[in-house]
Amino acid sequence: MAAYFNMETLKFLMFNVHKLEELLLNERYNAFDKESILLFLQSVADFSDQDLYPIFKEMDEKPAKFSEGKIHVHPKIKDILIKQGELGIIGASFDEAMGGLQLPATVMHAAYFIMEAANNHIPGYAGLTAGAAHLISSFADKKYHDQYVPNMLSGEWSGTMCSGTMCLSEPQAGSGLSDIKCSAKLTDDGTYRIKGHKIFISGGDHEFAGNIIHLLLARIEGAPAGTKGISLFIVPKYKISPDQTLVDNDVITAGDFQKMGQRGYCTAHLVFGDNDQCTGYLVGEENKGLLYMFQMMNDARIAVGRGGAAIASAAYYASLQYAQERQQGRRLLSGGRKDEAAGPTLIINHPDVRRMLFLQKAIYEGSLSLILQSSIYHDREISEKENNNHWNLLLEFLTPITKTYPSEKGKLAVDNGLQILGGYGFCADFILQQYYRDIRIMSIYEGTTGIQSLDLLGRKVLMENGLVLKTMLAEMQNTISEGKMDERLMATAKELEDQLPLVEATLAHLIPIAMKGETEKFVSDATLFMEAIGTIVVAWQWLKIGITASNALKSSDAAFSASMLKNKLHTMRFFYKYELARNKSIFKIIQSDEVLTLAEDEAFPD
Ligand SMILES: Cc1cc2nc3c(=O)[nH]c(=O)nc-3n(C[C@H](O)[C@H](O)[C@H](O)COP(=O)(O)OP(=O)(O)OC[C@H]3O[C@@H](n4cnc5c(N)ncnc54)[C@H](O)[C@@H]3O)c2cc1C
Repeated sequence: MAAYFNMETLKFLMFNVHKLEELLLNERYNAFDKESILLFLQSVADFSDQDLYPIFKEMDEKPAKFSEGKIHVHPKIKDILIKQGELGIIGASFDEAMGGLQLPATVMHAAYFIMEAANNHIPGYAGLTAGAAHLISSFADKKYHDQYVPNMLSGEWSGTMCSGTMCLSEPQAGSGLSDIKCSAKLTDDGTYRIKGHKIFISGGDHEFAGNIIHLLLARIEGAPAGTKGISLFIVPKYKISPDQTLVDNDVITAGDFQKMGQRGYCTAHLVFGDNDQCTGYLVGEENKGLLYMFQMMNDARIAVGRGGAAIASAAYYASLQYAQERQQGRRLLSGGRKDEAAGPTLIINHPDVRRMLFLQKAIYEGSLSLILQSSIYHDREISEKENNNHWNLLLEFLTPITKTYPSEKGKLAVDNGLQILGGYGFCADFILQQYYRDIRIMSIYEGTTGIQSLDLLGRKVLMENGLVLKTMLAEMQNTISEGKMDERLMATAKELEDQLPLVEATLAHLIPIAMKGETEKFVSDATLFMEAIGTIVVAWQWLKIGITASNALKSSDAAFSASMLKNKLHTMRFFYKYELARNKSIFKIIQSDEVLTLAEDEAFPD
């Protein structure tokens, strides 16, 4: 079995860097201890080895396909989703009272990270099902919870498969959800008639679906224009009749998008109510749909970042293995002579190949740490009521970054992995090209990088009069202060500290532009701002990793080998030298008075 993730690193990040055991003291989670969590993660790793990884390549080579009104997916998908239900993966973080395991979301993310590194074409089915079930249990009438949620969490509907989706996108409304046209008309029995098209719906339909519960955004007739007039509906593929049998709900599958990556994961075009027979059940209150949907979208954003980190992890281990086996070229001796006598060397000995390996490792481990950091904030927010606003502010700030950094830099990491294989990297016999294609979607769905960047600069930085940003910077400053006390880390901590005035200077340049009402100009380089802040946030994660590794080395912590701990410190230094140092030039571009991208400045040319 090829390696696609490293359990030791995952444990180190969860229990040592992010101190999961402190969270477990909390009443909500105190049924678990380190041992039970490690057992759970090991069962997920075994399942991933036995069921997910073996069909990863096959799912790409024989993609999901639409024919005769049905989407055909890999034949093992049905059993896999039911098995995920049995393992408790779908309902991992749900309350016990609802049929979940009540595990911290941090553990759930770690489990999905393992599964996605093994096969990123499958966990989305369970992830979206859990997200849809969470929306129903949070905001819908209890009777809908009782009808749908237990089946969704078990992954089963009368022996067949049950899953959930998020139905937002329409042909004319992708990034701009205010233009949603899908309509809902109130009927005499209090339900709604749904009509419209939804496109790009992940897990939207397939041959094994005993039922699929769509969480769909639509506009009730007469609702206000824009986002204030959008409502949320439960629209099952099959509705439950009074005698409890399932009847067709007029949801037609019009096709499956054929994609460059994640080809085994179906992406449906769905038509609702073509025969005026599609029933939808309102979730919560009218016109509050987008507000509710943000719960699922925010969770999904963290999940997309996690997918990016997982693919980058798998690509790293695949390229590492290749670099340890492939011989090519000679090592350079002093004076530039080639070491002909020794014969060809393993390519892992060439500094440029080592640079590409370290870059991948620095990006994927930094990204994984960021995902765990965000999920720890989430777990604290829901379990520490007295202090939940503090954790909420931190999570708000980190969410767009946690989606974007692993997606964008993950692409760079996988690209470097592919480069390590030389010509073979470009060939179908080797897996790197699949990772390269699969990871490409991460910076597009769940809000593109452009949209996440607008959220970060246009909303989060300004939110609560700058309190969100201030809270985040204070959190980083705490880590910096801790790092400065350690001789081994002093210089690294200082390098991170030196970034903070750059952020302040950049905002001192941008905020007056916003105050003048020149909003388009203010956000014109939001994506560059995201890139620089993302790098700072991950540098902060690396400093945390460095502090933990350094402390463990000092105390000769036997839980981890000295070579692993030293490698963490080395990779931290790599990140600071090769990645963080680039930030100065990015901030300089943002602070430049020369704005070249506004529509009225220059017509787009021939
Ligand atoms: C494989 C796949 C699976 C998907 N799964 C789902 C799903 O399960 N459910 C669902 O509802 N949707 C799903 N989507 C849809 C996905 O979320 C959208 O494709 C995405 O949000 C972008 O919308 P769009 O494709 O309409 O592009 P557009 O919105 O047309 O964007 C095109 C470009 O313009 C930029 N842009 C647009 N508006 C702005 C702006 N205001 N400011 C700056 N730049 C802007 C974008 O960043 C992008 O670069 C999926 C898509 C794919 C490809």
